Amino acid sequence: MSKLRHVPGICFADDRCRVSCSVFNDGISSMSNEHPVRSVCVYCGSRFGTNPAHKAAAEALGTALAKADMGLVYGGGSVGLMGVVARSCVDAGGRVIGIIPEHLDRIEVTQDGLDELIITHNMHDRKHKMFDRSDAFVILPGGLGTLDETFEVLTWAQLHLHSKPIILLDSDGYWRKLIDVLHDIVREGFASADNVSLLHHTTSVDETMAFLRAARVDNSNVDSSLL
Ligand code: AMP
Repeated sequence: MSKLRHVPGICFADDRCRVSCSVFNDGISSMSNEHPVRSVCVYCGSRFGTNPAHKAAAEALGTALAKADMGLVYGGGSVGLMGVVARSCVDAGGRVIGIIPEHLDRIEVTQDGLDELIITHNMHDRKHKMFDRSDAFVILPGGLGTLDETFEVLTWAQLHLHSKPIILLDSDGYWRKLIDVLHDIVREGFASADNVSLLHHTTSVDETMAFLRAARVDNSNVDSSLL
């Protein structure tokens, strides 16, 4: 049961908070029915990187989510690609929820204009809530934090703890070498091809949105206490 404490526009969440529901559903837990993707968690860099194509992809993705009426869930900051995707979504009239740990508030500089801001006590609680509030995950270019977040949801899927779609948006070939490493891992016998294929690849925002629009999710089997 949620233990969110509401102040205007802000939730403070305690460590035991376990919310297994879709974002923007007025707190009603998902039932067993499959439904279209309503909320998308975007993992991406807290920096811009050196290739301007990635900033353009972040802008396009934020705008496309708003136009598709899919809520954006993200890390709450205003810096790097994170900030770009959130601002683009807000500017296009989209719904955005930011989830940031208290200690990163000053470093990642909480974004203004969010529909909801959840401040967590720690990184784990942040990742947990980002997971709980999302129906699907899209990964744009990013660094070590982005990799951590990606592999956490991917390995949870490998353990059958959820079946939410996970899409690696290979903007301008940024993730090509990571994809190669994953194929090597399969070739070397450390993961099954089925498990690695839980990470879907797209190469454009249009392709990503087509995937999201076609996807159906059923969150009723997610036991958040196992994560
Ligand atoms: P980065 O890809 O390193 O720029 O980080 C992207 C986001 O991931 C930022 O919001 C970071 O705060 C977050 N992050 C960094 N390290 C971790 C971690 N170990 N676990 C979860 N998130 C992280």
